[in-house]
Amino acid sequence: LSGYKKPNTEGSFVHYKSQYDNFIGGEWVAPADGEYFDNPSPVDGKVFTRVPRSKKKDIDLAVQKAHEAKEKWGNTPVAKRSKILLKMAERIEQNRQMLALSETWDNGKPIRESMAADIPLAADHFRYFAGVIRGEESGVSEIDPNTVSMHIKEPIGVVGQIIPWNFPLLMAVWKMAPALAAGNCVVLKPAEQTPVTVLLFAELVQDLLPPGTLNIVNGFGPEAGQALATHPDIGKIAFTGETTTGRLIMQFASENIKPVTLELGGKSPNVFTESVMAKDDSFLEKAVEGFTMFALNQGEVCTCPSRALIQESIYDEFMERALKRVEKIRMGDPLDPQTMIGAQASRDQYAKIMSYLDIGKQEKAKVLAGGEAYHNEQYPDGFYIQPTVFEGNNKMRIFQEEIFGPVVSVTRFKDEKELLEIANDTLYGLGAGLWTRDVHQAYSIARKIEAGRVWVNCYHQYPAHAAFGGYKQSGIGRETHKMMLDHYQQTKNLLISY
Ligand code: NAD
Repeated sequence: LSGYKKPNTEGSFVHYKSQYDNFIGGEWVAPADGEYFDNPSPVDGKVFTRVPRSKKKDIDLAVQKAHEAKEKWGNTPVAKRSKILLKMAERIEQNRQMLALSETWDNGKPIRESMAADIPLAADHFRYFAGVIRGEESGVSEIDPNTVSMHIKEPIGVVGQIIPWNFPLLMAVWKMAPALAAGNCVVLKPAEQTPVTVLLFAELVQDLLPPGTLNIVNGFGPEAGQALATHPDIGKIAFTGETTTGRLIMQFASENIKPVTLELGGKSPNVFTESVMAKDDSFLEKAVEGFTMFALNQGEVCTCPSRALIQESIYDEFMERALKRVEKIRMGDPLDPQTMIGAQASRDQYAKIMSYLDIGKQEKAKVLAGGEAYHNEQYPDGFYIQPTVFEGNNKMRIFQEEIFGPVVSVTRFKDEKELLEIANDTLYGLGAGLWTRDVHQAYSIARKIEAGRVWVNCYHQYPAHAAFGGYKQSGIGRETHKMMLDHYQQTKNLLISY
């Protein structure tokens, strides 16, 4: 095997190819103009692999191959499609360690997370959609004694999907599982920072799908991404990424009147009411643990609880406990199963987060923890940042703008009215956390928070059967849950007279 060697968790080596091609029409295809780009690993800052720098011609080819495949896949009986999806889940599980290692090397996330969350959730997602597609029923109603109306669902045909780098395989699977289950052919562009795991996944499942059903084309946003989003022959574009890019995608889609789903940014509030302090018990411990969720996945989560709102009456006592817990977040080698926080996904993202640490300090927010880069002796050229806690007010930029790093901005509220004013004072509406022992408060506050997902007394859980998506500028449409199938199907009405 020629290629790059990277240590695995046991200290021996895994080999990755030094160069990958696009996966188009069931084959591995070099980019039309032969250009590739380097993909560095955030763990050690060294080149991990090279992937195609695709352009319009490559996207055109993938869309064409997807069109050639759409009749076969769209007409594959539901039971058979479902069985194939179940096999895809199995392949993911059988190769869990290899995929988890690649996520860690490509994205920087700790191996304990990629093993425990990213990879098993991806497999579960295929299983869920393999199941729900079999439960789809068409509605039949009688219009008059001689006429029936019947609604049938049809696949859209060929769909374009563009994903970010924070959960490379899981974001791909969130999109492709419902699309494939509904009988569509897919052209997916991974993020340029994290192309490897999706390509390894394509290698694992290539014998299961008819050629052209799933196509993976790599490249940069303004080149390959834009060529896909503006393509006249795709029936839909599904996008996950920044709100500013989402706006562009919507404009591109409007040129050809294509439906979009957008999963965009967030600035999620995590609210701790005074009832959490009522007793010194496991509930309080759970709430303190909930505070540390801002550092999960190095804070590179769209629902990162990046604003913590603490009730004034418990502020000092709660924060004392919370800061002690933050001190214990273990940083270090992402390949070490004990490590809780790894490397930021790219040099650019590292620089962006560092600039926000400066902005927070300039705004005179108080640094309660962290606030600096983290020097990882083992990997001095990797991209590591300390979990950081700022104290300030909701008007500051660090409270309003998405940092997408292990940074939480903390403020106080007096009562429910002020809580809601602060929580909803944002352009975003993706996630929110609420910690309370009071059932009435749980329901009434959760109803008034403007967000597509409110976790009450928990955080960062993503089951396939719970709908996920944004209010306000956090997006349009939902991912996960069976309602997702509606985003990938057309409804046809047959009005039959006899
Ligand atoms: P990004 O918008 O920069 O890039 C996302 C994808 O869009 C990449 O594949 C990129 O190549 C592509 N892209 C960029 N410019 C494009 C263009 N002009 N035309 C077409 N495609 C283009 O976002 P990112 O930095 O990769 O990801 C981080 C963002 O994603 C954060 O804002 C985060 O909140 C969001 N996110 C949202 C969710 C969600 O479900 N709501 C989930 C994960 C991440």
